[in-house]
Amino acid sequence: MKIGVFALQGAFAEHEHSLDRLGIQWKEIRRLADFTDDLDGIILPGGESTTQGKLLREEGLLVPVKEAILGGLPVFGTCAGMILLAKKLSNDENVYFDAMDVVVRRNAYGRQLGSFGATLDFKGIGSIPAVFIRGPFVESAGKGVDVLAKADGNIVAVRQKHMLATAFHPELTDDLRIHTYFSEIIRGKL
Ligand code: GLN
Repeated sequence: MKIGVFALQGAFAEHEHSLDRLGIQWKEIRRLADFTDDLDGIILPGGESTTQGKLLREEGLLVPVKEAILGGLPVFGTCAGMILLAKKLSNDENVYFDAMDVVVRRNAYGRQLGSFGATLDFKGIGSIPAVFIRGPFVESAGKGVDVLAKADGNIVAVRQKHMLATAFHPELTDDLRIHTYFSEIIRGKL
């Protein structure tokens, strides 16, 4: 298995570290030539979604990656990655991959609660540690979307077929179960 980790901006090295610990091969994607067809899945890291969207457009990656995702390429978006995957943002005009049937609110927790840690109950996994950094949450999810975790009543992890998104950062904890979960989606076991 080989996973493409988008490395335009943000917390990509931490995902690579998590994949290393699982013994999963990865490759950084910075430009169109890196987006080869030997990838079994891709990870969209946290960071700044507006900057990432701009860089994706400049590198000519936005449309081909969107087409690959809509064509079934497994994808895992964390934080800004969740924003890029959404079909709609409630407090931002932009739409990027337009792929997951969710309405996402950016910087959803206000200034005071911008960054915090929590323990969440993740469907099928159980109790997991979660780190939020000026993260989004899902305001509403369409019928085909499975809600996997909530924090204080807000939806913070979702899955729609081959697409997985979390508002928090599993790559910033030692817990590898969410990355394992994504690898099982890729293997078709989940
Ligand atoms: N606040 C960022 C945004 O709206 C996301 C934060 C993150 O990815 N940690 O793009």
